[in-house]
Amino acid sequence: MRKPIMAGNWKMNKTISESLSFIESLKSSAAGISDIEILICPPFTSLFALREQMQGTQIALGAQNLFWEAKGAFTGEISPIMLKDSGCKYVLIGHSERRQYFGETDECVNKKTKAAFEAGLIPIVCVGETLKEREDNLTFKIIERQIRGGLSQLQPQYAKEIVIAYEPVWAIGTGKTASPKQAQEVHQFIRKTYESLYAGCAEGIRLLYGGSVKPDNISELMRQQDIDGGLVGGASLEPDSFLKLINYQK
Ligand code: PEP
Repeated sequence: MRKPIMAGNWKMNKTISESLSFIESLKSSAAGISDIEILICPPFTSLFALREQMQGTQIALGAQNLFWEAKGAFTGEISPIMLKDSGCKYVLIGHSERRQYFGETDECVNKKTKAAFEAGLIPIVCVGETLKEREDNLTFKIIERQIRGGLSQLQPQYAKEIVIAYEPVWAIGTGKTASPKQAQEVHQFIRKTYESLYAGCAEGIRLLYGGSVKPDNISELMRQQDIDGGLVGGASLEPDSFLKLINYQK
């Protein structure tokens, strides 16, 4: 049985005080919820403050990025150990905005994924095709390349723990969502591809869908067999809409 995850990716939004007041609003409503993992990925600057505030709650903390080295002369970077130290359980890796604006490659995703595991973090590795790639019928080819390139040579104990987020680039922040059928088709393909890399692991890993997830489309997405949760940008910024996502109707 795969426990669903509802993950909020705040991107470059919210100061420390805004982050704290969001969690303050969410905390009591989230208190009794145990059948879904609730995850917030704030900017780095809010991590430590949220760690303190989330203590004793059901809400987990994640980062939006990391660097693969443990320490050293890498100005401006944050190491996996630092994230662990700041209270993170999860870390997003290879978000399409990182691939698009910061030139992250599958090779870099692979290094980051391994480094995250080594530090005791659970990576949520993002994959997804652009609109042009979908229109050119390249979706499966791109996803397969991202999975094989980004997730190769993981230690067997880590291969069972990974979380993968399918986020079609054309659906992120655009208001266009992949139809439940389109999303399921790719999720099923991801599971199959992952099984060919790590036999016996694919059935147990969680696959999240991301791309304009909203309170009015979450239920149908979550009814799909291979969708185990959401990675949510815009609709995770307000406690009310995020709470609606957590409480989606099964
Ligand atoms: C995201 O940030 O990963 C995302 C899917 O954003 P949005 O929900 O706003 O499309």
